[in-house]
Amino acid sequence: EAKRNGRGRYQVFAGDMDDLLLRKRKVESELRNALNGGTGIKLAYQPVFAGNGKTIVGAEALIRWAHDVHGALPAAQFIAIAEERGMIGQLGKWVLLEACRFAVRTELPWLAVNVSPLQLRDAGFAEEVASILAETGLAPERLQLEITENVLLENSDTTRTTLANLRRSGVGIVLDDFGTGYSSLSYLRRHAIDKLKIDRSFVRLLDGDGNSGAIVKALIDLAGALKVEVTAEGVETEAQKTLLVAMGCQQLQGYLLSSPLEPAQLLALPGLSSANATTEEAAALA
Ligand code: C2E
Ligand code: MG
Ligand code: MG
Ligand code: MG
Repeated sequence: EAKRNGRGRYQVFAGDMDDLLLRKRKVESELRNALNGGTGIKLAYQPVFAGNGKTIVGAEALIRWAHDVHGALPAAQFIAIAEERGMIGQLGKWVLLEACRFAVRTELPWLAVNVSPLQLRDAGFAEEVASILAETGLAPERLQLEITENVLLENSDTTRTTLANLRRSGVGIVLDDFGTGYSSLSYLRRHAIDKLKIDRSFVRLLDGDGNSGAIVKALIDLAGALKVEVTAEGVETEAQKTLLVAMGCQQLQGYLLSSPLEPAQLLALPGLSSANATTEEAAALA
């Protein structure tokens, strides 16, 4: 009886382990494919809008798992596995290169790329960014790097120097998922940041009671006091949009305005130069 229970539990556990290992091995092989110019992974681009909800002010690159034979893997899981397996440096470099190559062909004012805390620990990161900008011909002012609050908490000299060097070169530094981490006001003051992105967990609350509105308003006012831009992410309803704009939020991102798009779809948006689409992109649109 005990043995059977034991074996039953073991089997469940073994199944989960196999699944996890399978996923990790798949991620590793897709990464290798991508790094060899394959097509295992790709980027989607979600436009960011001005308060009028119409003018596109920029976009965010988001990694996508292209093959879904074994089920699509969410970006956050994909990234976590790459971080754990020591492959985030290479993956991050691929993302940056791919994103900059794309941005240079668009009329986007800027393109934002998410950066893992582990990438910022690498003393050579600022140089890597500089060489990718030089290689692709993208102006530094048109690249924004999204970091999370916990990066600032690490309080490492390498990270601080890297962020300062990047910023001096003209690259924008954005604090992503703002409000979900542990950064204090003193950290915000000490590190040079260009923009705060209010996490969607706060934006979602705007449909609820009055207190949650006060939190969002405080975050927007904080950005104003720090003289940095502010974006709300995860805007899903017209009511959220109206409230955010009334509170002084300058930039909006979310399903209400646009989901993350294929490159061809983004290029087809008004003012974004579909003339610059590659043959494959043009074909994908037709
Ligand atoms: P994030 O940077 O905060 O990106 C926003 C996430 O919210 C994206 O999820 C996006 O698809 C989703 N989203 C956008 N609008 C809405 C909305 O209105 N409602 C809801 N519910 N969700 C919305 P995604 O693409 O699954 O990415 C998840 C996270 O994975 C990202 O969060 C980012 O932290 C990370 N990530 C994605 N791509 C990369 C990458 O290239 N490098 C690194 N290091 N991390 C990445
Ligand atoms: Mg982001
Ligand atoms: Mg975010
Ligand atoms: Mg978020």
